[in-house]
Amino acid sequence: MCHPSVSSLSALFKRKSTHLSGISAGPVIMQQTKKLARWVCLECAYIYDPAKGDKKNGIPPGVPFEELPRTWRCPECNLSIEKIGIFKRLDD
Ligand SMILES: [Zn+2]
Repeated sequence: MCHPSVSSLSALFKRKSTHLSGISAGPVIMQQTKKLARWVCLECAYIYDPAKGDKKNGIPPGVPFEELPRTWRCPECNLSIEKIGIFKRLDD
């Protein structure tokens, strides 16, 4: 008559199923409807391509340049995104 209570088992299961909650790192834009502009760093000619993101800085594909965190730096020359005039939008 002393079987484990169902409520404690489901509580355990609930805890296990929350393992994805720590992964939300910044905006994730999945829609590929409009073409996102690439930006070039005039200092070193690095091109930020939103379709690829920036692995070095942990930016997933699909993040427009305008929505990069203010702490973002050029992965090549390490210049801050806040340096006005260094990054130029490429229109094609
Ligand atoms: Zn650069």
